[in-house]
Amino acid sequence: MALKTIFYSVLNNKCPNCHEGDVFIGKSAYDFKTFDKLHETCEHCGHKYEKEPGFFYGAMYVSYALMVAWFVITWSLNGLIFHIDSIYYLVFLVISIIVLMPVTFRQSRLIWINFFTKYQEHGVIEHPKKKTENTDELEKN
Ligand SMILES: [Zn+2]
Repeated sequence: MALKTIFYSVLNNKCPNCHEGDVFIGKSAYDFKTFDKLHETCEHCGHKYEKEPGFFYGAMYVSYALMVAWFVITWSLNGLIFHIDSIYYLVFLVISIIVLMPVTFRQSRLIWINFFTKYQEHGVIEHPKKKTENTDELEKN
């Protein structure tokens, strides 16, 4: 199932192509030295994460969608269960969005790269070694 493989990649910080290599260098979203640093390519299959310059600008739309989803869920829960006064809810919302920002940042980039790369269920096609061999052959010809 495509959705299952996307969830696996997004939740485990794994390469969308092979599900083996990590996308982000830091394991935790709250390690502020490395939370935003990505590997350029997958360590396992050589898949290039940033397809073109500015590729991750698109992740901002995903980030926006995640924030809206968070607002809708918390607002609904407040209306149905908690009934917290609007001003306190607003304070909660702002603080929670700031606290969740590193997580949202990483999740939105992972979701974004999963839009453009399909999981190679039956083995990975791409490999950095194979790539250089091919280009060498092309240069000889
Ligand atoms: Zn990979």
